[in-house]
Amino acid sequence: MKSFHKELWFDVRERMDFINITPDVEVAVSESGIHDGLCLVNAMHITASVFINDDESGLHRDYKRWLEELAPHAPISRYDHNRTGEDNGDAHHKRQIMGREVVVAITDGRLHFGTWEQIFYGEFDGRRKKRVLVKIIGE
Ligand code: ZN
Repeated sequence: MKSFHKELWFDVRERMDFINITPDVEVAVSESGIHDGLCLVNAMHITASVFINDDESGLHRDYKRWLEELAPHAPISRYDHNRTGEDNGDAHHKRQIMGREVVVAITDGRLHFGTWEQIFYGEFDGRRKKRVLVKIIGE
C-alpha cells in the first residue's frame, strides 16, 4: 500500500467564505501516483470545514445566510467561548455544522465523485493563514 500526504494553505479575506479546492485535491491525487484507494481531506483548524456539495453560487449564499441564522457572529457576548477574549464563538459552531472532513474514493487515478459533487474549504474565522490536510492511501 502506498501513502501520500500534502498540506494546502489558505488565507481567506472574508470572515466566512467557501473555496472550491477540487483542483488542488486532483493535483494531490495525481502527485500521489495512487490509482485505487481513498482520499481524506480535512481542515486542520476548529473554525474551518471541508465539505462536499454543488458549486452553485446561490446555494453558497443560502448556506451563509442559514449558518448566520443558526450561529450569528454578533453580539459576540452571546457565546460563553468569547469570554476567553476571542470573538469566534460563532465560527466554532459553523464548523461543527459543516463538518471537519470528507473522504472520496479514488478509481482509475481520479476522484470518484457523484453527480455535481465538488470539494470545498469552508472558512468561518478568516483573515489568517490556515491549512487543509490531504491524505491518500491505496495502490
Ligand atoms: Zn475560539
